[in-house]
Amino acid sequence: MAGMLYLVPTPIGNLGDISIRCKQTLESADFIAAEDTRVTLKLLNHLGIKKSLVSYYEHNKAFKGNVILDRILAGETCALVSDAGSPAISDPGEELVMLCAQHGITVCAIPGPCAVITALSISGQTTGRFCFEGFLSTAKKSRREHLESLIGETRTMIFYEAPHKLLNTLEDMASVFGADRPISLCRELTKLHEEVVRTTLGEAVAKYTENPPKGEFVLVVAGAPAQEKAQFTAEDAVSRVAQLMAEGISRKDAVKQTAKELNLPKNVVYNAALNVE
Ligand code: SAM
Repeated sequence: MAGMLYLVPTPIGNLGDISIRCKQTLESADFIAAEDTRVTLKLLNHLGIKKSLVSYYEHNKAFKGNVILDRILAGETCALVSDAGSPAISDPGEELVMLCAQHGITVCAIPGPCAVITALSISGQTTGRFCFEGFLSTAKKSRREHLESLIGETRTMIFYEAPHKLLNTLEDMASVFGADRPISLCRELTKLHEEVVRTTLGEAVAKYTENPPKGEFVLVVAGAPAQEKAQFTAEDAVSRVAQLMAEGISRKDAVKQTAKELNLPKNVVYNAALNVE
């Protein structure tokens, strides 16, 4: 009989956040798959657990995923941990869960620390409807495209970001969403220097230009005010389609993307942009 895959969340800063159930699962698993075995070894030492570890990370996941799958199919139970937080949320655990699901293996997720939910809950932004956008691309063009696709988004938006890319990202966000858009920058969550800066995109750019950011960040950005959704006109659609076509995007895709970004019906955009060359 096949074994199981357990997703075991680990602390995002405060070691006290490991739960009794997580500890028991790490103790009882046949082996642990870890993103960085050195990081996980420290945690296991803290918990007094000795267990066989295999590495499973971005650059070996294609090969190691199949090794782990074979062991589970042969009857072993695997506990998957990432460096911090909930496995499979913006880390390679995503692919292992897909692989196990495709092979009919039971996957059990233990609830626990997760940076996105911790940040959202203390952000002071609307939490009723939100979307998680993960990491933005490091390439300026695709980062801008990602942000532009969110122009009409009215839900609260959550992003992961590394400190060395934060300023560029904030500048792009301010130019796409407007300098007045509220943002909560949640830094070093659960750690000694935990901080939540509730401000606007424009002010955040000024703050981190003066004091370069340090530590880990989750950005919680307010969604567009609901009325902004209907504010775009056919004229706006024409200029956006022209801009996208000038960038080499086909008319069909430019119409599709513009309709999505400006929240306008596709036929309205299509008809308005008929004469765009
Ligand atoms: N799977 C993890 C989770 O959902 O908690 C996240 C893994 S992702 C590779 C790492 C990113 O999560 C960091 O770049 C940062 O944006 C965010 N993060 C993790 N720990 C954090 C913390 N203590 N404070 C703020 N952000 C954190």
